[in-house]
Amino acid sequence: MVRTPLVAGNWKMNFDHLEATYFLQKLVWLLRDAKFDYGRCEVALFPAFTALRSIEVLVEADNLHIRYGAQTVSVTSQGAFTGDVSADMLAQLGCSYVIVGHSERRKYHPEDDANIVDQVRAVLAAGMQPILCVGESYEERRQGIELEFAVGQVKDVTRDLSQEDVSKLIVAYEPVWAIGTGMVATPQVAQEASKAIRSYVADTFGTEAAQAMRILYGGSVTSKNAKELIGQQDVDGFLVGGAALEVDEFSKIARLT
Ligand code: PEP
Repeated sequence: MVRTPLVAGNWKMNFDHLEATYFLQKLVWLLRDAKFDYGRCEVALFPAFTALRSIEVLVEADNLHIRYGAQTVSVTSQGAFTGDVSADMLAQLGCSYVIVGHSERRKYHPEDDANIVDQVRAVLAAGMQPILCVGESYEERRQGIELEFAVGQVKDVTRDLSQEDVSKLIVAYEPVWAIGTGMVATPQVAQEASKAIRSYVADTFGTEAAQAMRILYGGSVTSKNAKELIGQQDVDGFLVGGAALEVDEFSKIARLT
């Protein structure tokens, strides 16, 4: 099966709605100049909630082929949950994806596996695709339990999901030690972890679900390392943080993918 690669830019808490729309316009110009083929590789942006509507308006007005999504989601659908944003609200804004379980969310917010499972369910129920982030810390790698750990996170979240749900899931393998540090995983490390995740999914949910699942690599991706990483059999694209804040750099990564 041929999986369409995905290059996803996670802006985290950066860019107000004006900066976000300026970035999007420039990205589209750069990709147009480079005759970028959106059928060959998908490009998605993950702004803060406050910029989603502006991105939606621009994408619709200019019929852009850029997709977008949110960085987290509430597990509840509506009601007295101050500060939360529901999956239906995001779907109404045209979001295709929601990042779920990013290590920064796991660290700074009470997002444990149970909460992450509920986020995944909420995203799927609203007709979007979750991008589930998993990956070991430096300590787990030092102990040599990195594959067990990353696969274990996938296992914990997918345990009660149906085969159909799992085939809609995108996994981002993001070793925590590589996020924002400049210490990118070697292509071999990225491949080994992605392969282990895909094998687990194949054994548990069948080959079809495993072959359909896109597995992204995230952690200090730049235009200097993207080409080698995407050359790995089980790496289907990238979740990009820091380099997604530089439009020239992000467009280069998309072109190399
Ligand atoms: C991320 O936060 O998902 C990420 C991969 O960040 P960076 O590319 O900056 O390491």
